[in-house]
Amino acid sequence: MMTAEDAALLVRARAESVQLRGHGLHVKDVAEGPPGYFRPPDAIDLLEGRMPLQTLFTLLHEIGHFWSFTVERRGSQYGGDVVLWRGWTKEIGRRIMKRPDMQHYANGGDVPRETWDRSFREEALKLSCPLDRTRRGLILDEEARAWTLAYAIVEVVVPDLQQELVAEARRALEPYFVGLGLPSDANWVPNVVELRLSPEDRCYISELAMPGQYGVRPRGTA
Ligand SMILES: [Zn+2]
Repeated sequence: MMTAEDAALLVRARAESVQLRGHGLHVKDVAEGPPGYFRPPDAIDLLEGRMPLQTLFTLLHEIGHFWSFTVERRGSQYGGDVVLWRGWTKEIGRRIMKRPDMQHYANGGDVPRETWDRSFREEALKLSCPLDRTRRGLILDEEARAWTLAYAIVEVVVPDLQQELVAEARRALEPYFVGLGLPSDANWVPNVVELRLSPEDRCYISELAMPGQYGVRPRGTA
């Protein structure tokens, strides 16, 4: 089996050379920011210094966002809705940090997850989100779709890592359930059938997984 490190190198090199509707990806290592960030139309920022397995999964997830954007799986309102939603979550965060019980935390990242989530749900009752439940659901759908495409790629490149990818996806989705005011789903599983992959999508996935190029070769092959 390929190691996570080899798989990340392979997929990264392939993602930069394979074209999807005329776009190859530009993957850039960055020193700070979120673990991964897709910048339409074709750039991904990847946070340096993480474990190879995490880097691989984040890269695959961001490729999922790129794919969804490029083949127009997200609705046209998605980009604007995310901006509105992020603005609202920032304001909720500000309100949380002003609470008397938060005074001993220097910043939001220091607050234990459970405490943060409970406070978030409480503050969200006082300042309602500008997006209705349907539009919030579409933001979650996009996250789930990107993880499901990541799963479909892992299925081809490193099938041994499928279960670990699902565990990572569940961890990554949890803050979205809370932040979008939607019920958590600790047993979330990717449903590749639901993606209804087109021949073009399948071709892209198999091209991403093509081994033996760019100096990377799966173990056990000549
Ligand atoms: Zn995402």
